[in-house]
Amino acid sequence: MRSLPLVFLLSMLFAAIAFGQEQTASSSPMQLSWMKDSIARLNQELVAKYGEGQRDRIARGLHQVSEFWHPEDGDAAVFEAFVSTNFAGDQATLDTMFNRFEDLLEQTDGHMHEINRVYRQQSDLDAGSILPFDEIFAAYDPAAHLLDDFFANKLAFVVLLNFRLTSLNEYLTEGPDWTRRQWAEARLAETFSKRIPADVNLAIAQAASESEQYIAQYNIWMYHLVDERGQRLFPPKLRLLSHWNLRDEIKADYADKQNGLAKQRAIQQVMDRIVTQTIPLVVVDNPNVDWNPFTNEVKPAAEKDSDKPAPAGEAITNAPEPSTRYKVLLNDFVAAKKADPYSPTAPTMIDRRFNEDREIPEKRVQEMLVQVLSSPLVPKVAKLIQSRLGRPLEPFDIWYDGFLPRGAYPQAELDAIVSKRYPTAEAYQKDIPNILVKLGFSPEKAQYVANNIIVDPARGSGHAMGAEMRSEKAHLRTRVEKTGMNYKGFNIAVHEMGHNVEQTFSLNEVDHTLLHGVPNTAFTEALAMLLQGHDLEVLGLSSPDEKSEALRVLSDFWATYEIGGSALVDMAVWHWMYDHPGATPDQLRDATVEIAKETWNRYYAPVFGKKDVVLLGIYSHMIHSFLYLPDYPIGHLIGFQIEEQMRKVGKVGDEFERMTKEGRVTPDMWMINATGKPVGPEALLTATERSLARVQEK
Ligand SMILES: [Zn+2]
Repeated sequence: MRSLPLVFLLSMLFAAIAFGQEQTASSSPMQLSWMKDSIARLNQELVAKYGEGQRDRIARGLHQVSEFWHPEDGDAAVFEAFVSTNFAGDQATLDTMFNRFEDLLEQTDGHMHEINRVYRQQSDLDAGSILPFDEIFAAYDPAAHLLDDFFANKLAFVVLLNFRLTSLNEYLTEGPDWTRRQWAEARLAETFSKRIPADVNLAIAQAASESEQYIAQYNIWMYHLVDERGQRLFPPKLRLLSHWNLRDEIKADYADKQNGLAKQRAIQQVMDRIVTQTIPLVVVDNPNVDWNPFTNEVKPAAEKDSDKPAPAGEAITNAPEPSTRYKVLLNDFVAAKKADPYSPTAPTMIDRRFNEDREIPEKRVQEMLVQVLSSPLVPKVAKLIQSRLGRPLEPFDIWYDGFLPRGAYPQAELDAIVSKRYPTAEAYQKDIPNILVKLGFSPEKAQYVANNIIVDPARGSGHAMGAEMRSEKAHLRTRVEKTGMNYKGFNIAVHEMGHNVEQTFSLNEVDHTLLHGVPNTAFTEALAMLLQGHDLEVLGLSSPDEKSEALRVLSDFWATYEIGGSALVDMAVWHWMYDHPGATPDQLRDATVEIAKETWNRYYAPVFGKKDVVLLGIYSHMIHSFLYLPDYPIGHLIGFQIEEQMRKVGKVGDEFERMTKEGRVTPDMWMINATGKPVGPEALLTATERSLARVQEK
């Protein structure tokens, strides 16, 4: 976990939820009647003043400003005076402008983040009780109105007048030939590529919060699942949230030799009913009814395991949930679509997710996922799973997790080693240079990075909080019990420290602070997990053997195969919504079920021997995360590419530094610099093939 730089946040959809801004709902981008004449006049004037060489820059700057100029920004006279005053017509002025914006935005981001960090301190750190007002401080975002302010005072227009907005296609085709300064200029302009009115942001935030609430209360009371003989498979009080807890229960049930299979089949049936919305409304988060998910029969609960009252006014019938799941998703879509007219370089939600947040074209993401899903390795790994299970595969086996090796060292032994070595957070802080040397960094670099990390005792399990300006340090929040750090806390600390190392190099050693960071969270997660994977060596113990390592790879491959399908469904459903903007919840339900089945039939049915399964539609992210699912499989691919590169080169410290100094360019540029190849599935497939051979060796 890490926090994101403000410049990046500003470009994201949910960035600024501005309240009280004087903007009417009708303030969609409009052609102002005087704009055309003003632009023609200014074009002539400025070319006459600065010469033919500036003609393209002038025309582009005028166009960019006009796209974002609202009536309340001023009339023709104000527009013309603004442009004449603020166009930087010679290189020296442009250089000064660029340097000052870079410097001042670093300070803005840095100090805003600093306020954030300090305001959150009481809730983040293990530092005594949290009083109600502490939560208000923690929730406050000092930068929430910044983008609005920068349009209101016209600093945003200064940037739009002088620096070019870049589309993803231009990044991809021209970016490889750019200088680093050109990259930094592109990131500067991009900060102001949207001017979404407050009421639109508010509508999006409301839809997001309503969908989160819908998902957050979607529990199934497992003791009340009964079979035809009224038998209960699950223990009393067990309440599972869809889909996370249901999925994790399927995983845990592999260890239950007696009832595991029956439980897994029952959960699969529950998931099916949720996706198809044939689930009786009355069983959702209600321990007062017994439900047979196969026959769909409901009865008053014959046994009581909770005091939770029955929902008021709901009769005990099996009347289905009225497509609420899809109504919530449609509301997300309608809200997200409102931002379309204010985002000229990415005019749909799909564009914004792929072209801006991920910066990998949707078509390529699709191709990469299909490459994994239709790989000849899938049936081979499936066969291996089948033989480990000793039965034919069933659809819920997409969540098979029996590859994960058992640790070689008993938990108690590890806890004892760690608590002795790190009785306090300070002890860990002092040991960071030593830890980094063991992880492969040179003594000088290890000391340098350690000097840029402050260790704090965390209230929760731990997290990393990077700085946003060079005068600040990264913070490592780690959990230390009264009896000292335990192994779990240490394992997380090494992961979070991995984020801090990335944050330190990518802020302090990058050549332009406008480029600080990584392309997206998948990159920093991959780097953090890389260091985390060597935590036993730091303790002087042996690392996992080759066979356990191979099993871990197969486990990751299977997880990528599983979630890759759900990602494709998520993508297809958003396209369907854009193609059918007036759809009803029932129509969206039918379309989603159809898309989930088609995807299953193409990539899973041949392996599982069963058609028309709808499980790929169960992820809650589909309902409340606005097209987020593709990030998971892409994250796996990126992780394997970085890992393979480290395997090849061996010198983890130097490579880590070299990769992260590249900063926030596009994912492909970053990966080409890091490994010689763009983002892709080859590393995952190569590692899987190698691991499959190793596991099958007798
Ligand atoms: Zn992390």
